[in-house]
Amino acid sequence: MSAPLPPNSTIGILGGGQLGRMTALAAAALGYRCHIYAPEADSPGMQVSAAATVAAYDDAEALKRFAASVDVVTFEFENVPAACLDILAPLVPCRPGVQALRICQDRLLEKKFLAEAGVPVAPWRAVTSEAELEAAVAEIGLPAVLKTTRMGYDGRGQAVLRKPEDLAAAWARLDPKPLILEAFVPFAAEISAVAARAVDGSVAVYDAVENRHTHHILDYSFAPARLPQAAALAAKAGVASVAEKLDLVGVLAVEFFLLADGTLLGNEIAPRPHNSGHWTMDACAFSQFAQHARAVAGLPLGTPERHHDAVMKNLVGPEGMKRWPSVMEHPDVALHLYGKASAREGRKMGHVNRVLPLGSLATMSDEEICRGI
Ligand code: AMP
Repeated sequence: MSAPLPPNSTIGILGGGQLGRMTALAAAALGYRCHIYAPEADSPGMQVSAAATVAAYDDAEALKRFAASVDVVTFEFENVPAACLDILAPLVPCRPGVQALRICQDRLLEKKFLAEAGVPVAPWRAVTSEAELEAAVAEIGLPAVLKTTRMGYDGRGQAVLRKPEDLAAAWARLDPKPLILEAFVPFAAEISAVAARAVDGSVAVYDAVENRHTHHILDYSFAPARLPQAAALAAKAGVASVAEKLDLVGVLAVEFFLLADGTLLGNEIAPRPHNSGHWTMDACAFSQFAQHARAVAGLPLGTPERHHDAVMKNLVGPEGMKRWPSVMEHPDVALHLYGKASAREGRKMGHVNRVLPLGSLATMSDEEICRGI
């Protein structure tokens, strides 16, 4: 199927979180309905969608019924089991497809893939036993970062190894195996870039942003990143190349480390709208969610041009929710809440975007940019 989905068609979304919610809202603006499939009832995506299936990701019968009720399927988080798409793909177009999902679920495949797509990565070794871990540390040196290859997010499933005595405890703690050992990157900044790719292969790339984390959770994204021009272009070229090589239809993000000498190293690929792309909702005519809905529906993409500079701040846990509603007092701040009932520690409850005139970020201090949010 390559013709655009006609209005009132249904986009099926695997996953019930905020990324699906914001995709569903953007899809609704284009005249589509969404059907959310997730194990949790009353999930953020379900609250704004026409239909919902509450079922496990390994419930083959529920998946088949879901496939019969939608015109295309996408996913909003990359830990959906690949077997889920194996069941759906013969029945309904899946965008992105299972291949992109498999690569991005596995840090080993992901690292190889980044390098093949022309994005350099820090030295790494696959580690399947404690003896291999010792050998890998001997080659790569310390400090190093030991990670699970699957199911890691927001800093979970990893340990920084600083001295030889750290190895045994980290090996025992991290699960599931196998693991990957990466050289510790003494980065100057963390950068990411988001691209959308349409059914016809056209690609739209947003400006790269700088990300700041607190307790391993994204806290702020500054758009655009204040980067040397060459690094900004390399980030954009890297994400476009990854989208093409994955033959992706939809939106994806690549996270990079920026070194002090301006070199960029690829860290992770997320084959879906990304938290570091939320600024596009208020600073671009076409947000990452609008692009994702357009790509998945087979429509042409909109321009990724930025009409404002922006800073995005996540509202995390009870502390984040305390900022509501005072953030609303600023006429340049847009609020996006995800409809989650309980503000547990570390849970992403919403975000705000402050929009600023083009060029402002280069001339303002971080303190001025973030005042009041
Ligand atoms: P990840 O789950 O790979 O995105 O890692 C979470 C965070 O841990 C990153 O955003 C970095 O701040 C840090 N980190 C991950 N890998 C490395 C590395 N190889 N060197 C230094 N810091 C890292």
